Amino acid sequence: MSVLIFIDHAEGQIKKASLEAISYGVKIAQQNGTTAEGIVLGNVTEDLAALGKYGVQKIHHAADAALDHLDAQQYTAAIAQLAQSINADVIVFSNNTTGKAIAPRLSAKLKAGLVSGAVALPDTANGFTVKKNVFSGKAFANISITTAVKIIALSPNAYKIEETGGSAEVVAYAPTLSASKVKLVSTTKASGEIPLAEAEIVVSGGRGLKGPENWGIVEDLAKALHAGLACSRPVADAHWRPHNEHVGQTGGAIAPNLYIAIGISGAIQHLAGVNRSKVIVVINKDAEAPFFKAADYGIVGDAFEVVPKLTAAINKLKG
Ligand code: FAD
Repeated sequence: MSVLIFIDHAEGQIKKASLEAISYGVKIAQQNGTTAEGIVLGNVTEDLAALGKYGVQKIHHAADAALDHLDAQQYTAAIAQLAQSINADVIVFSNNTTGKAIAPRLSAKLKAGLVSGAVALPDTANGFTVKKNVFSGKAFANISITTAVKIIALSPNAYKIEETGGSAEVVAYAPTLSASKVKLVSTTKASGEIPLAEAEIVVSGGRGLKGPENWGIVEDLAKALHAGLACSRPVADAHWRPHNEHVGQTGGAIAPNLYIAIGISGAIQHLAGVNRSKVIVVINKDAEAPFFKAADYGIVGDAFEVVPKLTAAINKLKG
């Protein structure tokens, strides 16, 4: 058995979700007495050899400008060629936007079983069974992969990044690529300083904030905590905030270490996107708001009074 890990980056910086995928893939390799290799597509600004500290032994780097931006067909072709040439039988992705675009295509191309949204290491005692989230994080399923090549897309924030020390061997990789069928026209930077998917802490606002003009208190708290920004669906639907911040059943699914919900009622469709957060703090003036049932900590109070005080207290602590 050998393990290949897809290492994703944004503007040349390796994503945190990929470091989790590396740690996860390395652990699978260790448990099965085999090697873990990585693949990086496009130009990066980081020292790839340094990724060896997470235990990956070898990194295949295709520093081709055609791969700088996500192109699903090219990425799938490049990963498939490498997987076949090194005989990888387990391929690990993060189940982030890129992983969700590529893993299913690769699965079809390699005729490999895929489990997306994995939350634990595979059980290899009897076959190869992977635990994953189902029903928007309300339940788990154990899925057995029976194909020779197995693909796992790991849920972001489901596996701890582990540093084991060492340096990775970086080798140039030149996949055979056909002419791209897509052309990148332009890119728009998402709002918020911290990308939502990468954020350890997320501060989120709902309709209780009354209007976009009041988002300053949410942004100030997010800034104090170095947090990403999110919102409920009606907020994005009303164009108070951009849709990329909308979390829930029909928006993004996140799993930060800390999720602070301000003026959000806690409808089941909202919870579907945030209930995997490690700690949930709810600020709502209605003590009967359903969100309090899902909260680890709750503050019953007016957001316009509570949030500025919280921000001031955090800034004071930071000195
Ligand atoms: P409200 O329900 O209006 O709640 C506002 C809250 O703010 C209340 O609890 C109120 O007590 C509190 N509040 C008011 N003033 C203050 C104050 N001054 N200080 C503190 N608290 C205050 N929703 C999502 O979020 N994400 C989804 O992905 C999503 N998908 C959906 C899919 C479907 C098919 C459907 C039918 C609905 C979906 N919804 C989704 C909508 C969801 O059902 C709720 O309507 C929505 O989450 C409510 O948003 P909210 O909590 O911001 O607003």
